[in-house]
Amino acid sequence: MTVEGLEGNGRQNLGDMPPEEFHAVASEVIEWVARYLDQVEDYPVLAQVRPGDIRSRLPLSAPERGESFDRILSDFQKVILPGITHWNHPSFHGYFAVTGSGPGILGEILTAALNVNAMVWRSSPAGTELEQHTLDWIRDLLGLPDAFQGVINDTASHSSLYALAAAREWAFPEAREVGLGGGPRGRIYASTEAHSSIEKAALTLGLGRQGVKKIEADEAYRMRPDALRAAILEDLADGIRPVAVVATVGTTSSSSVDPVDSIADLAKEFGLWLHVDAAYAGSSAIVPELRPHFRGWERSDSVVFNPHKWLFTPVDCSVLYCSRPDVLRGAFSLTPEYLRTQEEGSVRNLMDHGVALGRRFRALKLWFVLRYFGASGIRDRIREHVRLARYFAAHVEANPNWVRTAPVPFSTVTFRYLGEDLTGEEEDALNEELLERVNATGEAFLSHTRLGGRITLRLSIGNLRTREEHLDRTWQILERAAREVDERALVQ
Ligand SMILES: *Cc1c(COP(=O)(O)O)cnc(C)c1O
Repeated sequence: MTVEGLEGNGRQNLGDMPPEEFHAVASEVIEWVARYLDQVEDYPVLAQVRPGDIRSRLPLSAPERGESFDRILSDFQKVILPGITHWNHPSFHGYFAVTGSGPGILGEILTAALNVNAMVWRSSPAGTELEQHTLDWIRDLLGLPDAFQGVINDTASHSSLYALAAAREWAFPEAREVGLGGGPRGRIYASTEAHSSIEKAALTLGLGRQGVKKIEADEAYRMRPDALRAAILEDLADGIRPVAVVATVGTTSSSSVDPVDSIADLAKEFGLWLHVDAAYAGSSAIVPELRPHFRGWERSDSVVFNPHKWLFTPVDCSVLYCSRPDVLRGAFSLTPEYLRTQEEGSVRNLMDHGVALGRRFRALKLWFVLRYFGASGIRDRIREHVRLARYFAAHVEANPNWVRTAPVPFSTVTFRYLGEDLTGEEEDALNEELLERVNATGEAFLSHTRLGGRITLRLSIGNLRTREEHLDRTWQILERAAREVDERALVQ
């Protein structure tokens, strides 16, 4: 390989990596990626490192002279890989499990090579138009009406922030100019199970955390419409302006489904913006038998779902659909002179739909994924994940020492171990220890939450490599860990 930074005759190379060298290393890197995807199970799922371990293996300062790519790649393997928690591992079941699929990874590579920044149409015509076109395809597959226009953001947190900014723009149009300081008080409603990003959006938008009222959920962790109505009436009586309600389809803790249709009735009655947070479960609306969970979302003002969660697209890719895109643009469009273009007015400029000016060309990988798997291939894969979740839930249900803690509408199972004659706190501690033990094996990775105040384990399925035998193995590990922890508890 050529010497770093120098060309053959000793002249300094002030350009990029030479083409021959790029060619050689690129093949090596692709070879590595292909092998990694094939043999990802050889790695521990959860990185077996302690905080600071990775930094302690890195030099204190940046290299003064360029280094060979061989050395860089070798350090990638020696220093970086041990600190990787393998989200692409079939036994990764924490948070929401995902897949960086083959076509998606290849899309990312080409996106990096093109390196376009889709701020305004002319800075990336294909980036802008492919985004719109791909999102129209998906909108139709999801069964959302044509009025919904999509835009890709990095995360659901930003998508929801922008949706709620549109809601604020609509409720308090003057806020765009004068801010909310000292102005009217507004309220956003979301269930106690809603994602923390909703509160973050409220505090970013100047509504404050108190600008979010948490609505009680029922025994299956779904927002109670009667409680929502009561909260709205109470605020109206207190002179607080109801601004928006966030319904979640597939909550983060239990994957519960708020009754969107009833919530849409209330949104209409009281003139609230309805935002549907379907960051995880949204892609499953492609599957006809799962569509009923989404009933009513076609009446919403905005919907967020993350293709990087359950649509096999590498992180990051979140889609915000808005049925009133003019309001969304109203909240954000602001064009300085240096971004004015002749075609303004006749084209879409993606910078008008959020805070970010620059945007990665994320639609390319999404387009690759849709085309490579096809709608039916995606449906079958999501169906299979739902089937696998029920398969795992059946293990839990068949064993009296364990209990499933919420229904399983999608591909996430919540459950906990029941000790004998233990207090709630003791049982919580036991489940926490059990989780640590399972994750320490490196064979499977699960996460936890609290449901009804009690520690609950979560197993989420979203990886295209996950099979029944992986779940059987994870169940064995859980059972073994439970026996160990329980016996020790008995001895004490
Ligand atoms: C994952 C998730 C989020 C946050 O997603 P990010 O893209 O990480 O911001 C928000 N809401 C729900 C329901 C989620 O599942």
